[in-house]
Amino acid sequence: MIFKKKSYERRVSLKQDVVDSISSYCKIKHPNESILILKGKSKKGNITIDGLVIPPFSHTGPTFAGFPHSFLPFDMSYVGIVHSHPSGSAEPSLTDLHNFFGLVSIIVQHPYGDDDIFAWDSKGNSIPLEII
Ligand SMILES: [Zn+2]
Repeated sequence: MIFKKKSYERRVSLKQDVVDSISSYCKIKHPNESILILKGKSKKGNITIDGLVIPPFSHTGPTFAGFPHSFLPFDMSYVGIVHSHPSGSAEPSLTDLHNFFGLVSIIVQHPYGDDDIFAWDSKGNSIPLEII
């Protein structure tokens, strides 16, 4: 008998209006980084993002965006964070991986278009992302 391990391919689905909101928020904050909390739900590895929350007490600069996680209310609908990389590379930095929050980390690179959005897991592996 072949023992098959059940594993789910992870995938991230982003609503188009959420993408538009992220994009315009990043443009307003540019050249500083911006950071937002992703709201949505996760089912069998599929993460659907349908809302955004501006984190409390966020502090941002040209190379760093963060907020104290301890101030976050416990909310199961918070599936991760999105932040921008004004420098133009969507690769997660070591700091990003150390500050990983939730299930997915989305990074938007300059100039913040639909093709500039990338999703990563806590190990820095890319997760397929689709705009719905
Ligand atoms: Zn970063």
